[in-house]
Amino acid sequence: MEESYLIKPMLDANYPVIDYGKGVYLYDLDGKKYLDASSGAVTANIGHGVEEIIEAMNAQAKRVSFVYRSQFTSEAAEKLAAKIAEMTMGDLNWSFFVNSGSEATETAMKIAIQYWQEKGIKTKTKVLSRWVSYHGITLGALSLSGHAGRRARFIPLLQDFPVIHPPYCYRCPYNLEAPGCEYLCAGELETVINRVGANNIAAFIAEPVIGAAGAAIAPPQGYFHKIKEICERNEILFIADEVMTGFGRTGKVLSMEHWGVIPDIVALGKGMGAGYASIAAALVSDHVMEPILNGSKIVMSGHTLSANPQTCAVSLAVLEYLEKNEIIKEVESKGYYLRNQLEKLKNEFEIIGDIRGKGLLLGIEFVQNRERKVPFPRNMQLTKELVELAQRNGLLIYPAGAGIDGIHGDAVIISPPLTITKREMEELTRLLRKTLQDFIEANL
Ligand code: PLP
Repeated sequence: MEESYLIKPMLDANYPVIDYGKGVYLYDLDGKKYLDASSGAVTANIGHGVEEIIEAMNAQAKRVSFVYRSQFTSEAAEKLAAKIAEMTMGDLNWSFFVNSGSEATETAMKIAIQYWQEKGIKTKTKVLSRWVSYHGITLGALSLSGHAGRRARFIPLLQDFPVIHPPYCYRCPYNLEAPGCEYLCAGELETVINRVGANNIAAFIAEPVIGAAGAAIAPPQGYFHKIKEICERNEILFIADEVMTGFGRTGKVLSMEHWGVIPDIVALGKGMGAGYASIAAALVSDHVMEPILNGSKIVMSGHTLSANPQTCAVSLAVLEYLEKNEIIKEVESKGYYLRNQLEKLKNEFEIIGDIRGKGLLLGIEFVQNRERKVPFPRNMQLTKELVELAQRNGLLIYPAGAGIDGIHGDAVIISPPLTITKREMEELTRLLRKTLQDFIEANL
């Protein structure tokens, strides 16, 4: 392609032109094959080119693709909402459909604020979050996000929401270890609540496993129990941002199931459409909907394409495909296998400081000095080079913040489609080993 008017993430980059995808592989127009070890941006959870999803897409398109949500509902939207209620835990039963994860977290935030308003409490409008987090790119979602790089240009427009440390045990700010630490980082939430005043705070939002800003930082066992207990005691809603982790990525439908902690509201996205449709949702519990249903009876949010039958039908097909093929059940054992392979690479490459994550959401953090956990200098741009080298070798990995402050430090996410086979995981490891060797030969 000679001239391009497409605004791409890096305007001067020479992106290959993709032709088609099948399973865990993508093929470009030059015939080059890529093993998609990141599922794009942790999205293509059931792999590429699944016939059943394409059939569902076409079948809905033949009936009707779009109706406006203020005029009609549709079979597809109703069935999808019912399926999500059936699949998810607790009284999380109400779905508000949107088009992206950013819209899902913003909608979750607005519903939390509205909940308190409907109960007659107008002061509870702040939503607390963590420094080292990513909740989306629109200004409301970015206000929630503790991601220095993505915030930088827009700081004057943002609310100052991120406040507490994440459970980044590899670089614990208290130099302690769980469970002996008694989750001091979670305890910070109480300190901030006392300072700001619970009567000013609507909710606290957190990713179950921190993705883009921290490269798969999974919390220790008791962390979310403590968070939920603090939220409940102070009458603050707990929003779980499961945009990256939802629908099986870590081995459960919702990752919060790992800890038996039921959020009041959940943000969903990515794996919900698995790349076949732009769809996301705020999933709201009965007890949060109750004052709204008994009050104004209107959720003050929405987008033109919210709940359109086309994307809902595709998402429903994705969720049914997950269930029919019992895909989520196998994620934990696949995750152990892949993590084991990555641990072997850690023995071979001194620059690997930490392997972490849950299920098939795995992260690798790179360091100059393993013992002292010294990060590489920024100007070396290790993550960028590694991701480019991997792509040259036919392997796609996701560049993430290491978690130091949401930008500094080098780390990548390894998150292949949940349908990946053992043989493909071995191929992934082989290609990653070659990439690390190439990097070391060129740089160290
Ligand atoms: N929340 C989390 C946890 C995410 O990982 C992302 C995207 O990476 C978002 C929200 C924003 O989703 P989207 O890019 O679909 O707007």
